[in-house]
Order: sequence, then structure tokens, then C-alpha cells
Amino acid sequence: MITLSKCDYEMILNHCLGQLPNEACGLLAGRVAGNKKTVEKIYLLSNIDQSPKHFSMEPQEQFGAIKDMRAKDLILLGNFHSHPGSPARPSEEDIRLAFEPDKSYLILSLAEENPILKSFMIINRQVTNEELIIKGE
Ligand SMILES: [Zn+2]
Repeated sequence: MITLSKCDYEMILNHCLGQLPNEACGLLAGRVAGNKKTVEKIYLLSNIDQSPKHFSMEPQEQFGAIKDMRAKDLILLGNFHSHPGSPARPSEEDIRLAFEPDKSYLILSLAEENPILKSFMIINRQVTNEELIIKGE
């Protein structure tokens, strides 16, 4: 289970809307207690692919985010990216590039009128839904 504040959700949404028609991406940091993850900080990163179908996080920004997490004593919980024109589920490429079994992979679909955010765990190319709670909604 992963919990996100409404404010952080809006930050993700605005970042993704701002990058349209391209995919947007970022990292999620916070704390873990048992199987409960709580997001405390979002890092909005640049998609160097500048593509509506792919994303690659800008390496320097990624490095800076990890450094900041260490300084704040936060754990990397996972990442997010948007799907400007496809549903909120991992693509073949997303699955192929998911190497971290303990991380959450959030996907925000902007394909329909209302944005849809979902979280997934991807272990050995097996995708499972992860419960996502947006607090304060
Ligand atoms: Zn994707």
C-alpha cells in the first residue's frame, strides 16, 4: 500500500499536464513501515526522451534527488510517469525496464477526460496492482 497526500498528487498531475504531449516523470520518496509506504516528497524530473511514448529521467536530476533523499533521511519508494494517450497500466517497455521489485511504479493516464493514477509492483515481469491512497480527498 502506498499513501500520497492530495497536495503531492496535484503536484504530479500539474507536472504531467505541463509536459503534454510528452510523457512526464519523477521520483517518490518517503518512509516505509511494514508493507505501508508513505510518500513525503516528490521529485519532478525532466524526460530527456521528450516523447509522448517513452521516458528517461535526466541523470543529473536523478542523482540530485537521491542525494537530497539521503540528506533528508528519506527512502526512494518508487517513481511515476504519465501516459498521455494510453491507459494507466505498465507498457511492455515499462515492464521490461522495471528492475526493482520493492519499488512502486505509478502511472498517471491522461487519455480520458479525468486523470487516472494507479500504482503497480513489478516483480520478475509480473505486474500486480498496489493499493494507492490519496489522503485528504
Ligand atoms: Zn509507461
